[in-house]
Amino acid sequence: MPAAASAPAPVSAAVTVRVPAKVNAQLAVGGLRPDGFHDLANVFLAVGLYDEVTAAPADGLRITVSGPDAAHVPADDSNLAARAARALAERRGLRPDVHLHIAKDIPVAGGMAGGSADAAAALLACDTLWGGGTPREELLAICAELGSDVPFNLVGGAALGRGRGELLEPLEVGGTFHWVFAVAEGGLSTPAVYRECDRLRVAAGGGATTADVPDPRPDPALLEALRTGDTAALAAALTAGGSSNDLQAAAVSLRPSLARTLAAGTEAGALAALVSGSGPTCAFLVGDEAAAVAVADAMTASGTCRTARPTTAPAPGAHVVRRG
Ligand code: ATP
Repeated sequence: MPAAASAPAPVSAAVTVRVPAKVNAQLAVGGLRPDGFHDLANVFLAVGLYDEVTAAPADGLRITVSGPDAAHVPADDSNLAARAARALAERRGLRPDVHLHIAKDIPVAGGMAGGSADAAAALLACDTLWGGGTPREELLAICAELGSDVPFNLVGGAALGRGRGELLEPLEVGGTFHWVFAVAEGGLSTPAVYRECDRLRVAAGGGATTADVPDPRPDPALLEALRTGDTAALAAALTAGGSSNDLQAAAVSLRPSLARTLAAGTEAGALAALVSGSGPTCAFLVGDEAAAVAVADAMTASGTCRTARPTTAPAPGAHVVRRG
């Protein structure tokens, strides 16, 4: 095998990419597949909490992380951003000579796809630093190899994810939705939450495999609420049958205090309250910006979360914000 060439002369000294977090407006979880994954119907919505990943030329691959949760993010080869840089370098026959700095604002292990976001951002930042030119389809294919949520972080906006979540179909969104995210102390392991979901299904007298659980399907009322930008209709769809998130019961089972967080949001005037993805971040849909500020203040005062962040959705996918 020929030795990898060093990276070509970079087009700029550094490239910074901003990338959004996500909330699952719907997360319908099918049965456990023989390969250990679950089929999903995943309505992704990118939200305005961002990490920034800066790629700069270096001798070898180096990762640094800043932000309040930096201590909980690995700064070695297990970091998803490092894996993204290596995957791209390998495809392009280059050495991954890059310093990736992650300015972390997305909660870590919070059910908001923070690691996946950094992978998508690192991929775009490295590709730009190394002269660009990797076709979008190829970047998306690398994203899908890195993780189920990574392609969506590159694309942003809103999308329906099928399969493990990586087969994306863009969704139309007819307006801006206001949200508050209540960030918990500590994270939850996504695989552990899926295992708890399977355990609860078996304990309820059913089975947990694809033979026992109906195929996951997107809720037409929820898609229509997104398409028309109708907040009240979206709130109704998020809470129909309890929650649009099939992982919510499992997250609450592993972290019972989340029930109090969800109740505090509803008491504070949120139109809908749900666990974000695998949790433990909780998401609250509210009517407008003023309500977002009021609910965030009430959540912080309630003592049921570490911090509460008002924001909007949909947000754009990974994009270059600075060069040089
Ligand atoms: P998802 O919503 O996709 O299930 P999450 O938001 O719950 O994921 P992450 O923030 O991606 O969880 O973190 C999960 C684990 O991944 C962390 O505990 C950490 O050990 C590891 N990890 C690897 N790379 C990163 C990264 N760049 N940022 C955060 N965590 C990372």
